[in-house]
Amino acid sequence: MKEPLVEVEKVTFSYNGEIVLEEVNLELFAGDFCALIGPNGSGKSTLLKIIVGLLKPQQGRVRLFGKEIENFHEWWRIGYVPQKVTSLVDPVLPLTVAETVGLGLQGKPKSHGFSKKEVILSALERVGLADKADKLLRELSGGQQQRVFLARALVGQPQILLLDEPTTGVDFTAQERFYELLGRLNREGLTILIVTHDIAVVDRHVKQVACLNRKLVFHGKHEDFCKNPEVCGLIPGPHHLIGHLH
Ligand code: ADP
Repeated sequence: MKEPLVEVEKVTFSYNGEIVLEEVNLELFAGDFCALIGPNGSGKSTLLKIIVGLLKPQQGRVRLFGKEIENFHEWWRIGYVPQKVTSLVDPVLPLTVAETVGLGLQGKPKSHGFSKKEVILSALERVGLADKADKLLRELSGGQQQRVFLARALVGQPQILLLDEPTTGVDFTAQERFYELLGRLNREGLTILIVTHDIAVVDRHVKQVACLNRKLVFHGKHEDFCKNPEVCGLIPGPHHLIGHLH
């Protein structure tokens, strides 16, 4: 049987005694492209932070690539684009695009035969920004900055990509372009879990949907979600989600 790359088992998490996630199970398999949806405050960001080891659940376990998270050290195998990453666009410490992407190489063993610069340029090529390598990050548009942060997550050549509402504050065309790019990366073999509130936009790209509302109330194929959107207890149909989730 295929082994999941990410296995979340009966995870319960609370902030200061207040339960945010309750007995959540979630498995991600190689090739998945899963949208993690749910109302505001339903624990989506918290779950992502638990998967990348930033938060430790009070109960339950997480396994990554078959290893207990406590024994997992190859963090470059997991790319993470956190929410509000644009706060890194620091006016005091101006970073170039290439320097920003290079931050994603921390802890990664050196790739054989490739210089750091080549690895960074190749990540920028994947997101269509190779010509912007020497520009200051703050000189780029919001949509371009998002793609730089995607390149930062991709530079270690991860097998899984986790994204937390990556297109917040980005205009519709840039959003579409971003999701097209994710679709291509997924077709090239990258496994993706994306937190989003705009299911209508990711609709055309994702293969699975997981719906969180403290508990995981649905996880299955995208087409099954479309047949039964009420399983999330939210909505008459996925295209009406936007208004209901925020
Ligand atoms: P979502 O991503 O679905 O909007 P979050 O995981 O960000 O939800 O938050 C889930 C709940 O936990 C919310 O009620 C939020 O206010 C609360 N929360 C998030 N982060 C913290 C924190 N650092 N301390 C206390 N409560 C938090």
